[in-house]
Amino acid sequence: MIPYGKQHITDEDIAAVIETLQSPFLTAGPKVAEFEAAFANYVGSKYAVAVANGTAALHISCMALGVNASSKVITTPITFSASANCVKYCGGEVYFADVDADTVLLDVEKVRALLEQHPKGTFSGIIPVDFAGYPVNLSAFRALADEYDLWILEDACHAPGGSFTDSKGLVHKCGDSSLADLAIFSFHPVKHIATGEGGMVTTNDENLYKKLKQFRSHGMVYQGDPALIENHGGWYMELQELGYNYRMPDLLCNLGISQLKRADEGLAKRQAIAKKYDEAFAGTKAKTIIPPTGINHAYHLYVIQVADRKGLYDYLRSKQIFAQVHYIPVHLMPYYKNLGTKEGDFPISEEYYKHCLSIPMYPSLTDEEQSFVISEILNFVK
Ligand SMILES: *Cc1c(COP(=O)(O)O)cnc(C)c1O
Repeated sequence: MIPYGKQHITDEDIAAVIETLQSPFLTAGPKVAEFEAAFANYVGSKYAVAVANGTAALHISCMALGVNASSKVITTPITFSASANCVKYCGGEVYFADVDADTVLLDVEKVRALLEQHPKGTFSGIIPVDFAGYPVNLSAFRALADEYDLWILEDACHAPGGSFTDSKGLVHKCGDSSLADLAIFSFHPVKHIATGEGGMVTTNDENLYKKLKQFRSHGMVYQGDPALIENHGGWYMELQELGYNYRMPDLLCNLGISQLKRADEGLAKRQAIAKKYDEAFAGTKAKTIIPPTGINHAYHLYVIQVADRKGLYDYLRSKQIFAQVHYIPVHLMPYYKNLGTKEGDFPISEEYYKHCLSIPMYPSLTDEEQSFVISEILNFVK
């Protein structure tokens, strides 16, 4: 059986979990700050806050950005629904804008058109997604966001290690928060760094960082925190806001630290797999997306677009190759349709959805397995 993605666990990873199990702290201990520091260093941000999962990361990010019942936020239909749901958790309103057909990323010009249809001040922020690992051009989004006084929350779940080079030759790593206000990641097993459940928010803004830490743990501030208003003794803490328990335990943070040591190796393997697919499908009926120079694609997914997607999906399953579809457009989910979106609203996303298939992409995919996947796909589409 060959899945579209899977985790890679080594003896070192297992030893890291056992080490933490034998330590005094299973949660809220030293491995949390250690993982946060290592992750911030990896993506190039100033701060990082570890949380229970990527969805929790999105939720407390929206809270820290002040999303409330009067907020209107723009995102892409081609993403995991949590990128939109986080706005709803805070009572805000989700607006979608269509994707660019060549990159399948939120189209900055479509976002501009949406902004221009409303009075200035209508919208609060944008949540672009580095879909499949293709880094969004945040320079363009930053210029637009500044023009309309919007924040940017980058959903970088697919793109740890990815980067793009801007027109001045500066390299921006996904999640480095050089252009976004905040960025978020997930450590779900299909993602680059797998801890079972887990997530991270990165930022360069100290004020947002403090809020994120508070919202992650019930809204409480403790001894030594300058936000503590009074101090009645060693036990004293204050609940200053309404937060959640979104903590990531030390067990999983230490697994994350161990996984992060292999992040570069894993990314290089993903890129080598992508190169072999690119070459195999060039000039065939399996359409691929080959990024231009300056784009350092992180390849969480490798997506092909074919005429008969259902046929190929079923054919591959009969050969024990479990491809997957990313994504059913979020605006076509019954929950969002009930809020007012409908078929035909975002034609590029809908057309993409009819043809897309994510084929196996993970660092432990062997050369033989990949050759088998390629020959079966070519056998079907020819
Ligand atoms: C995985 C993912 C999430 C949610 O992460 P969880 O850890 O599963 O909650 C959010 N956005 C995108 C784009 C994702 O791929």
